[in-house]
Amino acid sequence: MIPPIASRFVAGESPAKAIEHVQQLDDDEVGAILNLLGEHHTDPDVIAEDVDAYRSLADSIARTTFDACISVKPSQIGLDIGPEEFESNLERIVSHAADRDVFVWVDMEDHTTTDATLEAYERLAREYAPDRSARAEEVAGAGATEATEIGSTKTAESGSGTDGVMVEDGAVGEGVLGLCLQANLKRTREDLERLSDVPGKVRLVKGAYDEPKSIAYKEKERVDEAYRTLLEDAFENRDGGIAVGSHDPAMIEYARELHEEYGTPYEVQMLMGVRDDAQRDLAADGVTVYQYVPYGSRWLSYFYRRVRERKENLLFAVRAVLS
Ligand code: FAD
Repeated sequence: MIPPIASRFVAGESPAKAIEHVQQLDDDEVGAILNLLGEHHTDPDVIAEDVDAYRSLADSIARTTFDACISVKPSQIGLDIGPEEFESNLERIVSHAADRDVFVWVDMEDHTTTDATLEAYERLAREYAPDRSARAEEVAGAGATEATEIGSTKTAESGSGTDGVMVEDGAVGEGVLGLCLQANLKRTREDLERLSDVPGKVRLVKGAYDEPKSIAYKEKERVDEAYRTLLEDAFENRDGGIAVGSHDPAMIEYARELHEEYGTPYEVQMLMGVRDDAQRDLAADGVTVYQYVPYGSRWLSYFYRRVRERKENLLFAVRAVLS
């Protein structure tokens, strides 16, 4: 059982508790990104359990009308064993979720995992992209061909699905899968460019890992500057839009300005327990907002991370213990 002190940041231990939280978010028109806590698993049984848990989470989400999706950490599903293990487990989750029209995000971990994560993501995002033939015909009729040129696609619909739920045709840039990119890594501009014709979404974050200075910006100002530049690139070039994974009011305001300038769709993503009021206010203002909702029995280290990263969170924890 999660103590009240941690329940600000973690929805509960069971998927049922997580879905209860999603229901509350739904009342405020905030969507949910559900993450089963866990990372750096090397025991194949534990990995298999988490893969199965994500598949049954997709079933639970599909039984609701809530705007909810899933986010998975590569090292939770086999990347510490090897890239093949990770990719085949990610495919088990994505194929199942896509059949149920449940979107899957892939979190990004430290720089040693970036290449393998990108490679698996790119292959699966292309392969499981919804059938865009309808869209292709539409644009072909207008003399354009770009939609047909975007990779070979396998429809993520009907056939293999056990419940026959169909995936709707996606607009250009949409898909069944999204990937997180980190502004603190110097390579990210190229990675964003690489993903420009891959069907799927990109979540831009500042980056949570302490990376070597040869490959990463270390000063906050430099990371903020890189974040702004990448936002500009994304708004200018990504028709499918961009997910702004940040609590920073300056970045969220900048995204709004860029949206006004380019018309590119965007959504704001924030963590559960961080600026919850702002999440509700943005949603009330008509911005698409998703809350990243961690749940599961491995909540302790996640909770400590949240408390350590910010003085206010530490004060909140101390107050909760004393009251
Ligand atoms: P910061 O630069 O930390 O803060 C800027 C400003 O934001 C602050 O001055 C303050 O005004 C406001 N702010 C920030 N935190 C708080 C708070 N607790 N309370 C009140 N105001 C606050 N990182 C990864 O490396 N990989 C991932 O896959 C990943 N996924 C993420 C998914 C989501 C949905 C989010 C929100 C973050 C994710 N991150 C991930 C973490 C991210 O990289 C940053 O470490 C984290 O979001 C802190 O950066 P920031 O942009 O929120 O703002």
